[in-house]
Amino acid sequence: MTTHLTLLTTPPGAPSAPTAPADLPPAAADGTRRLADRYGRVARDLRVSLTDRCNLRCTYCMPAEGLEWLPTEQTLNFAEVTRLIRIAVELLGIRQIRFTGGEPLLRRELAEIIAFTSALRTDEGRAVQTALTTNGLGLDKKVASLREAGLNRVNISLDTIDAERYKSLTRRDRLHHVLRSIDAAVDAGLSPVKINAVVMPGVNEDDIVPLARYCLAKGAQLRFIEQMPLGPREQWKRSEMVTAADILARLQGEFTLTPASEPRGSAPAAKWDVAEYPGGQLGVIASVTESFCGDCDRSRLTTDGAIRNCLFANSETPLRDLMRSGASDAELATAWATAMWGKLPGHGIDDPGFLQPDRPMSAIGG
Ligand code: SAM
Ligand code: SF4
Repeated sequence: MTTHLTLLTTPPGAPSAPTAPADLPPAAADGTRRLADRYGRVARDLRVSLTDRCNLRCTYCMPAEGLEWLPTEQTLNFAEVTRLIRIAVELLGIRQIRFTGGEPLLRRELAEIIAFTSALRTDEGRAVQTALTTNGLGLDKKVASLREAGLNRVNISLDTIDAERYKSLTRRDRLHHVLRSIDAAVDAGLSPVKINAVVMPGVNEDDIVPLARYCLAKGAQLRFIEQMPLGPREQWKRSEMVTAADILARLQGEFTLTPASEPRGSAPAAKWDVAEYPGGQLGVIASVTESFCGDCDRSRLTTDGAIRNCLFANSETPLRDLMRSGASDAELATAWATAMWGKLPGHGIDDPGFLQPDRPMSAIGG
């Protein structure tokens, strides 16, 4: 029989939990809390980055070369990542979890992590909703097992359906693999399969309409995303970016769009029904020009175990070393709640003092 030793005291020199601010609401008698902040928002949606590695090199996300991967010992192992997921759901009120990266399909234990997560019950007694954001490479071969593990939804990134442009944009000649995976995801019934397209000035504006036609014909829901200042620093200029208004104008030139009737809630995409494709929808995510920070319900866990309360946060709360030095579930939950309590009201991209985060998007988890 295996004996499990529980470390009850913090070893000398080990990191200590950040001090909880005096105004942090206390945990309930059963140890549960909400991931609230000072502006009244409550995080229910957790983004978990399962690796910082990737098999593409999208120009808006990664440099062509020179980005070093985190050493394995610095990343959360299976036991650590599933422990934090359990704490998030059982103690902190998280109700849905999206796995991302880097490229999450590169994580060997992905199906096991999804199965573990799907078996947890939320504070409302429901199964946790699980989702995946992926570049799609290899998804066709894995989609059945991921579905079986409990995966509820998938977002596949595709910025062009022109093979040459895909090759220059992602620095890899893999368009046909992604298109195969989109078909496989639709066939697996992961509906609606969502497609994410980032629009960049002078790069893929001409793809807006062809991409829309392609996705509408497949029954996939395409969402255009404004490019954000998260990739290589020379890649983004506020004055040159393609805005949601520019994207919508192009779409309105081709399609008859009416605002979708369902309430938007904390969903980032403004959705439009497309008269020419009954039942078809297109979405536009104005992350920069019409930020939805006031409705944000997200918390983020990086591959190396840090909590980020915002994509654009300039500080993070490392839980990994706290966990490795023997912190209890309650201590980890308090450190996580403290991190979220300090969330700023908005991303501040338009503020003169805005600083791009040090971590690239691939390491934060998009
Ligand atoms: N590798 C997976 C993928 O590409 O879907 C998951 C990680 S990726 C960082 C997550 C999402 O972030 C993708 O949809 C990608 O297009 C988006 N993304 C990356 N860099 C971005 C940027 N600078 N601005 C806006 N979206 C970005
Ligand atoms: Fe990789 Fe996704 Fe970044 Fe592209 S957007 S380089 S696929 S992590």
